[in-house]
Amino acid sequence: MSECTFAIIKPDAVKRKLAGKILQRIEAEGFTIRGMRLVHLSKKDAEGFYAVHRARPFFASLTEFMASGPAVVLVLEAPDAIKKWRTLMGATDPAKADAGTLRKEFAESIERNATHGSDAPETAAVEIAYFFRGVDLN
Ligand code: UDP
Ligand code: MG
Repeated sequence: MSECTFAIIKPDAVKRKLAGKILQRIEAEGFTIRGMRLVHLSKKDAEGFYAVHRARPFFASLTEFMASGPAVVLVLEAPDAIKKWRTLMGATDPAKADAGTLRKEFAESIERNATHGSDAPETAAVEIAYFFRGVDLN
């Protein structure tokens, strides 16, 4: 069944001009882009988005990084989109990511790892609503 997931091309990747290459992979792998916008998160926006991680030691650094420059936020549709996108991204730590994954190819570190993807239908719904109004989804 077709579903939607929420994705981010993170500030490290946008800054290194990798957005086009990543979008090309997204389309080549069969996702349909339903929503897309360039955003520059405030520190508060980033803290709200990653609230589930607020007790983790990397929270301050992560949210500072996510607010460090523009990022591309996306809604992607495909059969089994949530799992399909996480598979295409690869492991959080690029050192552990499989060959051919976006993080293996483009991530600089476990923090500056080029992309985000929702991990479950409930989080996908919350994350999509954090960035997109219904009228901006197509
Ligand atoms: N992160 C980090 N250090 C860690 C684990 C995660 O800086 O030890 C960052 C990284 O940018 C990651 C984000 O926090 O993408 C969210 O972590 P999560 O465990 O949810 O990984 P993801 O779902 O993005 O693979
Ligand atoms: Mg996660």
